[in-house]
Amino acid sequence: TCLLEEPEASAGIQTHVGRPDSRLAWNGKGAWPVCALHEPGTTSRIIVSGPFFRWLGNGAFGEVSLAEINHPAFTQNKAAVKTVKKGVPEHLGLEEKFLVEGTISIPLDHPNVVRTLGWCYDSKPLQLLMELCPGGALSTFLMAKSEKASNLTLTRFCLDAARGLEYLHDVGVLHRDVAARNCLIDEHGTAKVADFGLSVKAYYYEMTTAENLPTRYLPPESLTSYSFKAESDVYAYGHLVCEVFNKCQMPYAGMSGPEARKQILAGKVVNVHERAPEALRFFVENRIFAYHAIYRPTMPQIVEFMTEVISILKEANPGDNAAFEIGAEN
Ligand code: ADP
Repeated sequence: TCLLEEPEASAGIQTHVGRPDSRLAWNGKGAWPVCALHEPGTTSRIIVSGPFFRWLGNGAFGEVSLAEINHPAFTQNKAAVKTVKKGVPEHLGLEEKFLVEGTISIPLDHPNVVRTLGWCYDSKPLQLLMELCPGGALSTFLMAKSEKASNLTLTRFCLDAARGLEYLHDVGVLHRDVAARNCLIDEHGTAKVADFGLSVKAYYYEMTTAENLPTRYLPPESLTSYSFKAESDVYAYGHLVCEVFNKCQMPYAGMSGPEARKQILAGKVVNVHERAPEALRFFVENRIFAYHAIYRPTMPQIVEFMTEVISILKEANPGDNAAFEIGAEN
């Protein structure tokens, strides 16, 4: 099904610097929503997506469709295009979030972070061209299939996400919305961190309110002083691990937002499901969810820990290669 609508005719072609090797723009002419790739220093326009769109998913502020790429500058011939939803009230700041997502994600380059290939930011609809992750959202996989997945597979997802976050912190990006719903699975079954709509390029960030933030994933200090640093991503990552081992059940499920807030401020943390390895449960509940940020491990320490858990799991189950089927329904 094609959910994208024909673009309005635009006066001229607007190009936008994306990755060093690509610029993305509407051609504004086709009968289908077509993106055009501009090679640096040239005016030649190469169509990267044609009348081959398939709906991939809907998010809070974007609609994501499949696009085909026909250009040697790309190793991949398919990509995902995110378009800002139409008709959403302006006060929700969706366009702003989109601009943040593009600005932050374009320079990122890591195997555990979804790559942004280019974007269109000054003509509507705003568009983001991303690496295609055929496995879909990690949350969807967890809800549908995690019961049958081995602990090795699940711990691998945790390690993948930890590596992505380690990289982000290394380049000075705070994600601020770490959750299984914001990770995607690529064609090799690797989980990648995505969705940078709330991200900031900062080591420390303070707000005046927690409005529009994922309250139940936040640590106590972000709820009280609205401050964010790497340790707050670490705390939210603890919830991601809980989601991975518990079919993506959201933190403080069954409680209202204010009730969850009370629990967090009282230091009542979520337990990791008992199917998870004991050492991992202890690590998350006691170290990652430490009330005071200073006692939480860093992402590199978490990567080290998860790597160790994986080697123990492999030793205990030599036949398990952590494989699983990546289906279109994931
Ligand atoms: P939002 O930021 O608006 O919440 P998302 O980025 O979460 O939107 O995307 C919504 C859905 O679209 C995801 O849950 C996933 O199913 C699908 N999707 C998003 N990005 C990709 C991608 N790069 N490859 C494949 N599917 C994707």
